[in-house]
Amino acid sequence: MLKTEIVDIINNLEEKTIQTRRKIHENPELEFEEFKTSELVCDRLDSIGVPYIKNVAKTGIVATVRGKSGGRTVALRADMDALPLIEKSGAKYASKINGKMHACGHDAHTAILLSVCEVFNKIKNEFCGNVKFIFQPAEEGVGGAEVMIKEGVLKDPDVSACLALHVDPNIEVGKITVRPGFVYASPDEFYITVKGKGGHCAEPHLCVDPITVAAEIVSAVKTTPKGKLGAIVGVTKIDGGTATNIIPDEVKLCGTARSTGFEERANLKNMIESKTEEICKKYGAHAEVNFVELFPPLINDEKIADIVRQAAEEELGAENVSSGEPTMAGEDFAYFAKELPSAIFKLGCGNVEKNIVYPLHSPMFNIDENCMKIGVRVFVNSALKLLEW
Ligand SMILES: [Zn+2]
Ligand SMILES: [Zn+2]
Repeated sequence: MLKTEIVDIINNLEEKTIQTRRKIHENPELEFEEFKTSELVCDRLDSIGVPYIKNVAKTGIVATVRGKSGGRTVALRADMDALPLIEKSGAKYASKINGKMHACGHDAHTAILLSVCEVFNKIKNEFCGNVKFIFQPAEEGVGGAEVMIKEGVLKDPDVSACLALHVDPNIEVGKITVRPGFVYASPDEFYITVKGKGGHCAEPHLCVDPITVAAEIVSAVKTTPKGKLGAIVGVTKIDGGTATNIIPDEVKLCGTARSTGFEERANLKNMIESKTEEICKKYGAHAEVNFVELFPPLINDEKIADIVRQAAEEELGAENVSSGEPTMAGEDFAYFAKELPSAIFKLGCGNVEKNIVYPLHSPMFNIDENCMKIGVRVFVNSALKLLEW
């Protein structure tokens, strides 16, 4: 009974979900500036009568649908920010803001979550517990998730599990992937300043050449490709020297250090520091190493991932659900997954026949909007299972 009722509600919301996404897509906003997007979310929540708290982490919103008393609280999260990019997709609802674009699908994430919220509000007399809807700013780069958690979004009522989705153009529409364990890497950065002793290039024996030292560090820290699951370390920028006849005093390097787990992350940090120190010692140079931890690695909880898999199989058929591949990109939902049992699943939005094949962060990126209803269905069924878990 409830099942068919939910299917009807979701079908009836499909057009609204698509139109909401297009409206957000036309008006992209960058991290912590999602004012209009935030207003759109609040307007929709007002219209359906779901209470919320706004201005969490500046532009974030937390809405809560309370079911019957007793039961746990499950949180679903969507990110809202766009990217600094000029859109070239040619879509009729393309960005109206020059230099800003929803090229990571966060417009779809927000529109899907609003519809999921509307579904739960309509069936609130039919489940026990609460569902929290977290509309998060600033996923790209600065980690709005961490700020929201610090501002208490996982408390009152206390959340016991979190879910998120990310659209993926590498997966055909109609399919999803969800895997236990490692899904996204920690996209950390490192900064090294090599300090030598500068002088005349004709007298290298009187100098400590930081360029030679830096060159050796570049090859020493770089990881050899070991397939998709290998850690990735690479220097991506070097800055030093002013002329052909001067040995400079110092050289600055920086790069990326991506790992697949917390232990691997600690090992990478150690490796970069110890190799740098070793090489400097050999040449009589000194170095300052600054390893900057950005998002944690995103590790899906095994049980939660399995519940999402079951829910998705019920909705889409087992043939359309697989474990997929992890990626060495970062995702700040990792902050939620670090706090509580959580899982993120990837929602197929690609369609070769419609030429929807461009990757995330491409100016040509688009989604097959048929994926949105699927996202709503998998979210709703997964959350219902988690409430009873
Ligand atoms: Zn992105
Ligand atoms: Zn994204």
